[in-house]
Amino acid sequence: MLYDVVVIGAGASGLMAAITAAKADAKVLVVEGLSEYGKKITMTGNGKCNLTNDAAGDISHYHTDDEELLKGILSEVTPEALLEEFNSLGLLCREKNGYWYPYHENAGLVRDLLGQRLYDYGGQIETGRFLTGITSLLPSRDPEYDAGYRYIVGGHSARKCIIATGSLAGRVFSGDDNEFYRLLNHPSPIPFIPYVPSLCKCYVSDEEKKRISYLKGLRVKGKVTLLTDNEEVKDDYGEIQFTEDALSGIVVFNLSGYVSEAIGEGKTCSLKLDLLPEYSFEEMKSILEKRYADGLRYAKALLGGIFSDKLLNLLCKENGIDPSVKKNDLAIESALNVIRLAKAYKFDIAGTAGFKDAQVARGGVPLSDMTPELMHKRFREIYICGEVLNVDGECGGFNLHFAFASGIIAGRSAAKKAL
Ligand SMILES: Cc1cc2nc3c(=O)[nH]c(=O)nc-3n(C[C@H](O)[C@H](O)[C@H](O)COP(=O)(O)OP(=O)(O)OC[C@H]3O[C@@H](n4cnc5c(N)ncnc54)[C@H](O)[C@@H]3O)c2cc1C
Repeated sequence: MLYDVVVIGAGASGLMAAITAAKADAKVLVVEGLSEYGKKITMTGNGKCNLTNDAAGDISHYHTDDEELLKGILSEVTPEALLEEFNSLGLLCREKNGYWYPYHENAGLVRDLLGQRLYDYGGQIETGRFLTGITSLLPSRDPEYDAGYRYIVGGHSARKCIIATGSLAGRVFSGDDNEFYRLLNHPSPIPFIPYVPSLCKCYVSDEEKKRISYLKGLRVKGKVTLLTDNEEVKDDYGEIQFTEDALSGIVVFNLSGYVSEAIGEGKTCSLKLDLLPEYSFEEMKSILEKRYADGLRYAKALLGGIFSDKLLNLLCKENGIDPSVKKNDLAIESALNVIRLAKAYKFDIAGTAGFKDAQVARGGVPLSDMTPELMHKRFREIYICGEVLNVDGECGGFNLHFAFASGIIAGRSAAKKAL
């Protein structure tokens, strides 16, 4: 069959690209490897699909190799423009603290709606077909080339091709034969930054396991700073979750891509927790000194109203204090040592979770290899969108925003040139 545009991958970006191209009257086919389309969309936002964020236009929430191009993409498809696009597709959305969800809070229905709209606009989806190559037609040998068809994709002729194959993260299948670069049947391999997991938990080193397992199940608000080779590189604030062998929670997820990168470069990594980020050490000192002067002189009285029991027990134990002793006066300096530890509570990190348990992957096709229309600079009429590009965002709707926004741009560009 002859198509104007063949899209490889029916995820968020591929479906949005296909809908955009089909709306512009291009003849579109989406080829999906899995037996169902949009599988990952159904898993997003704990089943509620956090599809964008009020701050999704701000590049400080993303990591990429080409900030200028990313700025252009995000200013072309702003959160308002994306919500308007969803509205035009029939999806009503609502906001909670800057995070946007479908009104019905059902990710499965978002997937169904995207598939339905694609059919409504005349597009088609072929599922259960993992592609392993794109073949270029040669001008001298192929009459179809003169009619504008450049590629054979899965047995179909295509004027344009959009690659939207996602990354290795959160994959429901295994194997590496879906790597992007294998798709291009070309003698020189396409430049590709190897993927590393991002938005996932960070495992502590073996030596730290006893310490962290005591805190298992605890959730506290705090500031987390990443140190690589003992240098502070990035920090974030939010809820920290302690598991048996790892640090987790959105704040840790947001730093995990940097952890993955650093470990890949052979650097040491640690996460330093400030469990009292709203107070300086000096402020805490004067609070404790006043309490001490008022006669609150044992560990539980001085510190029990600050930390939960579990945390207090561990912080005290690490300072040689028995928090259950009520009678003995605690030296103020010992109490201040607990505060010092709580403001710089460090865990050595051995690594991150693997791709299967990561929400996104860092790496992919360098964004700097793309034109502003999201066509690859070296491969004519090959467009690329979504997570297969080297752009990853923080938790909170930024990754779906980029997938949809880049899908709209790739679909629009491919359709424009196809007609
Ligand atoms: C558990 C989980 C929760 C998440 N929650 C959120 C959230 O709430 N908000 C948010 O912003 N982001 C979230 N994300 C991230 C977000 O889902 C992804 O960034 C986004 O879906 C990427 O879309 P994509 O279209 O680029 O890739 P994908 O959704 O991965 O789609 C790629 C598609 O291509 C297909 N494919 C791959 N190779 C081939 C091939 N060779 N031939 C044919 N088909 C192929 C795949 O089967 C897949 O269907 C979450 C991720 C996970 C794993």
